[in-house]
Amino acid sequence: MIWPELDALLEKHSSFLISSHRGLDGDCIGSQLAMYWYLTSIGKRAVVYNHDPLPTKFGFLTNAGVFSTERPGDRFDVLVVLDCSNPSRLGWERLSDMSDTIVNIDHHRDNALFGALNIVKKDGAATGQILYDYFAYKKLSYPPHVAESLYAAIMTDTGAFRFSNTSGVILRMCADLCDRGADSALIYDKVYASFSSNGLLLQSKIWSTLAFYHNGEICSMEMPYALIKDLGATYGDSEGMADFTIMGGGVEVGMLIKYNDKETHFSLRSKGRVDVGKIAASIEGGGGHSSAAGCTMTIPFAEAKAKMLAIIEKAL
Ligand code: 5GP
Ligand code: MN
Repeated sequence: MIWPELDALLEKHSSFLISSHRGLDGDCIGSQLAMYWYLTSIGKRAVVYNHDPLPTKFGFLTNAGVFSTERPGDRFDVLVVLDCSNPSRLGWERLSDMSDTIVNIDHHRDNALFGALNIVKKDGAATGQILYDYFAYKKLSYPPHVAESLYAAIMTDTGAFRFSNTSGVILRMCADLCDRGADSALIYDKVYASFSSNGLLLQSKIWSTLAFYHNGEICSMEMPYALIKDLGATYGDSEGMADFTIMGGGVEVGMLIKYNDKETHFSLRSKGRVDVGKIAASIEGGGGHSSAAGCTMTIPFAEAKAKMLAIIEKAL
């Protein structure tokens, strides 16, 4: 049982830096907020620092103001890394300048076990699920806003309960979070159904790049990063677009390709026949789950796209 070890470590120390992967998503955000609440509730000092800013659509969450992109100048007893398979995905470096002790809590199967304490549940649907289990083990009674954070974490990593990682356990967990005060309709609306007109315009531009390859088994969409700024949209407005790439009949693998002059990032999706986690992991720094994964190639867009198409075609 790993919980007593986590308990001991959290009890022993007094200052904690909480961080997660670049391109913040609902699970990493909700998990960081739940951890922030827990640590401060037991009298610890906690700071939340991430390379990237909080997407505006998550601004409704209580304590959203604790997210900072400014690297703290001081050291912490413990660095708590949540929902992040590898330190390189944090997007910031010299971790040892910030703390000597890392606690790594995650659910990615390619987690590099980089912590002094690693709590990695590879079959977990979300990091929020792991924290829910920890709070249940502690028999904690927590306020509605913490239930809301955990619900948002689990809802987003299950694609609003439509991915195959949605189980009875997950649904019962989320039912309990609703009983504890999470407002499921409000959270869905804020996360999935509230866009600025500029955000919708961005999506329409991404849709207009829709293309099919390999007898319709591969689908792609594209987004130059510069488009976000040009349209006055935000990065978060493109979130979820990758999921549309596998919705076409006959499509096995989908990809949303985001790029600038220097690098090309792939958000990969699979219907099941191809393990896109393996494809992503074959590129340095890449990884993820079998049905949703990502990687970055440090080569220009056209070259990178041709290379990825060849890799996927080989896998099909
Ligand atoms: P998304 O396409 O939604 O950004 O990410 C899908 C999944 O792949 C998530 O679990 C995410 O953590 C993982 N992922 C996305 N990009 C990368 C990457 O560059 N490297 C690694 N290791 N995982 C990634
Ligand atoms: Mn996650």
